[in-house]
Amino acid sequence: MTIRTRFAPSPTGMLHVGNIRTALHNWVWAQAQGGEFWLRIDDTDAERSEERFVDAIRADLAWLGLTAHGEERQSARFALYEARFAALRAAGRVYPAYETAQELDLKRKIAAGRGLPPIYDRAALALSDADRARVEADGIAPHWRFKLDHDTPIVWDDLIRGPQKFDAATMSDPVIRRADGSWLYMLPSAIDDAEMGITHVVRGEDHVSNTALQLQMFAAMGVAAPAFAHEALLVGSEGKLSKRLGSLGVEHFREVGIEPAAVRALLARIGTSLPVEPLVDTAALVATFDFAKFGRAPARFDEAELAGLNAKIVHQLDFASVAERLPAGMGAAEWEAVRPNLSTVAEAADWWKVIEGPIDAVRDPADADFLAAAARHMAAMPWGADPWHALTAALKGETGRSGKALFLPLRRALTGRDHGPDMKALLPLIGRDRAAARLSTI
Ligand code: GLU
Repeated sequence: MTIRTRFAPSPTGMLHVGNIRTALHNWVWAQAQGGEFWLRIDDTDAERSEERFVDAIRADLAWLGLTAHGEERQSARFALYEARFAALRAAGRVYPAYETAQELDLKRKIAAGRGLPPIYDRAALALSDADRARVEADGIAPHWRFKLDHDTPIVWDDLIRGPQKFDAATMSDPVIRRADGSWLYMLPSAIDDAEMGITHVVRGEDHVSNTALQLQMFAAMGVAAPAFAHEALLVGSEGKLSKRLGSLGVEHFREVGIEPAAVRALLARIGTSLPVEPLVDTAALVATFDFAKFGRAPARFDEAELAGLNAKIVHQLDFASVAERLPAGMGAAEWEAVRPNLSTVAEAADWWKVIEGPIDAVRDPADADFLAAAARHMAAMPWGADPWHALTAALKGETGRSGKALFLPLRRALTGRDHGPDMKALLPLIGRDRAAARLSTI
């Protein structure tokens, strides 16, 4: 059996960090099982779905490195839904209902007033053919409900939540199709999961009660249900489902210099008992992925943690993987020299400017003699493999300076900054002529 997962976003907006996490887990699990990860565009809602969001979803997944084995879209599958719908209707598992939204609202209020749960009373099931004909003659088209089987308990062993049990009698028969013929999410999703041979549905725990309903749909269609893993939701560092998280996506990550590897490494591990580690390669994330390690508590997403992880990822990136994002002329030696000081790849450009110059050298008048001595040594000494060591050793001997008093004035004069990459790596890249010019007083 081929393990097959799917990520099923509705193209009504950009992916946010919560969706991205779900997509990642589906992808990683499929990789771990040698299976397939599919993208399914849930675009049954023609009014709210937009092509630009479909394109953005594809682009975001590509940036994240979550390559799909294939893609389906629900708007191209309506014939399939019609056929299943007709069969379910013939089997008496789908029925027409005519209540308006206001009537349903009133029913719910009455139930609440009596202290009862707001469950649909199935009044439409009691209508006779003549009743229906009369209503329809008034120009009222039906919407359609799926008739739950109240006699069979709904149970499944959730890969994250463990054994789950629902009583269908405590749930409303879900509306699956609107009066205008358009589909609600529930039935098409179950049909697609069956038709696409999806073996594992990994999604947020906000879908748990949908799963209960969909399990009855699978049974009614006479098809095997996939396995389910419902993950705890993502919350912000403040412990709440913030508005900010809902708008945080790939566009923002790219803007602030976050690497796809950092997003993957963080989102694969938060909310699990595994540590968050700066893993550039997906292999380690795939090898350690285990639903049993997912907790029931919400996963906390902290942007500062992502930024920290990103720096550790950047420190590991090799030249080839960043070359096209570096300033023209910057080579492997320059990249490797500045890499340990970067939080983002883009910051390499700042250090390239420091290497290339011109820089605003920082010179303390109190260090004038010291820097003049440095310039003199630099002119005289052989420029070997480690000119920084040669320069500082000579200056130490001559001036007696050591530590900060020795190094800081040199760093300031040579780079214009107090901190930065190891001078031993940087000085050969700045080169003798530029270094000499920066040391000599003008
Ligand atoms: N389109 C649904 C959503 O975005 C898919 C849920 C599912 O994974 O079944 O919520």
